Amino acid sequence: MRSPLSTLTLLRPRTEREALAAMTASEAPRPIAGGTDLYVAMHAGISHGAEYLDLSRIKPWQRIEHDARGVTLGATATFLRIQADAAVRRRLPALAAAAAEVGAWPIQARATIGGNIANASPAGDSLPVLLAYDAVVHLRSARGMREVPFTELLTGYRTLAMERDELIAAVRIPYPARGVTTFFRKVGTRRAQSISKVAFCAAFGFDAKGRTSHVRLAYGSMAATTRRAVHAEAVFLGQKPAAALEAAIAALAQDLTPIDDVRSDAAYRIDIAARLLEQCVRVVTGRR
Ligand SMILES: Cc1cc2nc3c(=O)[nH]c(=O)nc-3n(C[C@H](O)[C@H](O)[C@H](O)COP(=O)(O)OP(=O)(O)OC[C@H]3O[C@@H](n4cnc5c(N)ncnc54)[C@H](O)[C@@H]3O)c2cc1C
Repeated sequence: MRSPLSTLTLLRPRTEREALAAMTASEAPRPIAGGTDLYVAMHAGISHGAEYLDLSRIKPWQRIEHDARGVTLGATATFLRIQADAAVRRRLPALAAAAAEVGAWPIQARATIGGNIANASPAGDSLPVLLAYDAVVHLRSARGMREVPFTELLTGYRTLAMERDELIAAVRIPYPARGVTTFFRKVGTRRAQSISKVAFCAAFGFDAKGRTSHVRLAYGSMAATTRRAVHAEAVFLGQKPAAALEAAIAALAQDLTPIDDVRSDAAYRIDIAARLLEQCVRVVTGRR
């Protein structure tokens, strides 16, 4: 049954301090940012909270701030603003590409990076990108702040290493080192508004002889959580990517455990994951 909106309470803090204080209640309110996941859940009657905490008026959480080393995205920065940001497009092109693939324009105008992370769907489009760029999530509570590497945040299917009184305040993404090149591609049933069958983001760096010195391979919709293909990464390290490709594709079987569902079957997903890796190697070696 749909959640009847008239029975719900909406708290509308203007400051981080007010928001964090609200989260100390014994029944903490449910945070709401763009509402693009939450309204769907409420409509379906599967969001059972009676009290909601609107994060959209906390100004510092909307920011996109660059410095010499990277960008800090406030939790309520929308994907439309992220993809339009000139420095994001230049320095973090895979993030701009993923932001442009979240639903279609009306969704991108509301959907936030913090909501995408907190929703923790294995199909969340920003998540492989955050893994590939070694992002760090800034969590805040009335007790203080902690920084959690994105690799440690995803603990299982739709579960995060967050305490019940914590909110995502921001995500920090360091600019990749000079010479590191990235690749992002989402495969879905159509160009827009499709949830991914497979999403993939990679980062490669090379030594003077063209051997892989840095590699991140991150897949979405290929396991219970978005995850790095660490066995395949290990195959590439110290090798020329094209020479290691076949062995890396074989190693993906150790990293990925896709399921059959309405969007795709596991065998198709594994094949696509391999084809994306092949395409990525072609693209990143072609750029050198
Ligand atoms: C038509 C449609 C198409 C979509 N297509 C895509 C797609 O292609 N790719 C994709 O990745 N997603 C897609 N989504 C899902 C959704 O748009 C994204 O996950 C979005 O980023 C969620 O952000 P939001 O701000 O709307 O989150 P909300 O709906 O406001 O919140 C989502 C969850 O996060 C929690 N939350 C939000 N902000 C915080 C915070 N700062 N701290 C702690 N918890 C928080 C909420 O309590 C809730 O549990 C689609 C949704 C719709 C309706």
